[in-house]
Amino acid sequence: MKEKTSGQAPQLTPIDYKVKFGEFIGIGPNGHLFVDGCDVQELAETFGTPLYIISENQLRYTYRAFRDAFRRHYPDVEILFANKSNNGLAIRHIMNQEGAGGDCFGAQEMYMALLAGTDARTLVLNGSNKQDEELEMAIANGLCVNIDAMDELDRIAAIADQLGVDVDVGIRLKLDLEPLRERKGVAMHGPGTLKQQSDSTKWGMTREQTAEIVKRALTMPRIKLKETHFHLSRMSNDAADFAVMAKEMITWSGYLRDKTGWTPPCIDIGGGWTFGKWYGTGPNSQLDDASAPTAEDYARLCAAAIKEEAARLGLPLPKLRLEPGRALSGPSGVAVGRVGAVKTGATKKWVNLDLSTNHLSWSAVLDWYYHAVAVANAEAEGTEVVDLVGPLCNSDEVGSHRKMPALQRGDYVAFLDAGGYTESSAARYNAQLLPATVLVAGDKAEITTEREQLRDVMGRFRVPPRLLAGSFTRS
Ligand SMILES: *Cc1c(COP(=O)(O)O)cnc(C)c1O
Repeated sequence: MKEKTSGQAPQLTPIDYKVKFGEFIGIGPNGHLFVDGCDVQELAETFGTPLYIISENQLRYTYRAFRDAFRRHYPDVEILFANKSNNGLAIRHIMNQEGAGGDCFGAQEMYMALLAGTDARTLVLNGSNKQDEELEMAIANGLCVNIDAMDELDRIAAIADQLGVDVDVGIRLKLDLEPLRERKGVAMHGPGTLKQQSDSTKWGMTREQTAEIVKRALTMPRIKLKETHFHLSRMSNDAADFAVMAKEMITWSGYLRDKTGWTPPCIDIGGGWTFGKWYGTGPNSQLDDASAPTAEDYARLCAAAIKEEAARLGLPLPKLRLEPGRALSGPSGVAVGRVGAVKTGATKKWVNLDLSTNHLSWSAVLDWYYHAVAVANAEAEGTEVVDLVGPLCNSDEVGSHRKMPALQRGDYVAFLDAGGYTESSAARYNAQLLPATVLVAGDKAEITTEREQLRDVMGRFRVPPRLLAGSFTRS
C-alpha cells in the first residue's frame, strides 16, 4: 500500500516516566498521572469532567508497533483501523497520516472517514443489513463492500450498473472453526465455546452460499471480487485461536478455487486483537495482563498458519488485511472523573464520581475492567478498598473493590486503557450529557469532541401541542 507518512507522521520517542502505563502515559515527576507531556490534574481542571483524554502519540506508536509486527512476518499486510472503536474525526485524521485504512459500519462512519480524507480504496464497508443509500455511497466512492446476505450481490450490481462504475466486493464467511469446538474464550463474550459463539452470531455466509455468490459475481462485469472476510471478535486471549481462524481462511480459499476457479487475492481476518499491560485491566482480571498475546505473537502464529496452509493447498499467498480496533485505540486513552460524596457504610466505602458506566462501556458489564489511578497521588499505595461508583440510578460500579489511596471530594480518578469503545458507545441514561474529549500531543491539549449541552439532548424532543395545552391549564 502506498503510504503518505513522510512529513505528516512524527518521529516518536517514548517518554521516560518514573512509572510507565504506556509509552506516552505514566507518572510524572510531581507524582501526578501524565498523558504525554500533560498533567492530567491540570487537564481535568481546565476542561472539566467527566473527560476522555487521548494521547495522539500513543495511538501512533501502538499502530506502528502492530503494523511492524505483522510486516516482520508477512510480505503484504494492510492495517484497517476499526473506526467504531473510536470514531472521532481527529482520530481518523491521525490514522490517515499513519497510512491506516478503515473498517466502516454504516453510512455515518463511512461519511466521517471520507470527510477526514481517508483513501476510499483502503476502506471496507461491513454490515449485516446494509441500506440502499449506504451501498450507493460505498460504490460511488470506491469502497470495498463485504457481502453478508444472499440478496446483497444483486443489489450491489444494480447500483454499480446504474452509476456506471466498477465495485470491489468481499464476502464475509461463517468459518467452521471445528478445532475451536471445545475451546472456551474470555469472560467478555458470555457462555459457550468459541465455535458455539461464532456459529450463533448473525455474521457470515456458509461455504455453499459463498461459492454461489462467487460464481454469480464472476458473470457480472462491474463486480470485482477482492477478498474474503472474517472477524473472530474479542472472544479469546490465545493467539493460537486466531491462527486456527487464519488457517481456515486459506482452507476456504482452496474450497473456492476448487468450486469456482476463483482464489481470493486478499483475506481480511478482522479484529478482536488484544493488548496486555503489566497491571492487567483491573483487579481479578485474567484478561489483558502481561500474559496476553502481543502483536508479535499474533503475527508470528497467524503468518505461519497462513503460509503452511497455502503451501499445503498450492495456493499463492494472499494479501493480508487486519481490522484492529481496541488494540490500537484502547491503550491511547484515559477517562477521568471527579470525586464527590465519599460515603462510609457498615462494611463498605463508596467513592462517588461524576464518571459513570454510561461513559465506560465495559465497566457496565465487567465492573473490574478498567485499572483505576488516583490522578494526584498516582504513585501512592492503596490504603483502603472502596467501590468507585457513578451517579446513575443503578449501582453504577465503574470500579468495585479497588484498593485506592485516601480520596476526598475534589480529587480526580483516572481509568486507564479507556480509548476504545468508550466515547463511541457512551450512553445518555438518566439524561446524562456526553463527556468532552481532549487530544494530547506533547504539551498541547485540544478539544476534539465538545462536551454535550442540555440543548443537544432537549433539541430532539417534540411535545404534541395538545399535551402542552393541558399542562399549562390551571386547575
Ligand atoms: C468490531 C470489529 C472489529 C474490531 O474489533 P476489535 O475487538 O476492536 O479489534 C474489526 N472488524 C469487524 C468486522 C468488527 O465488527
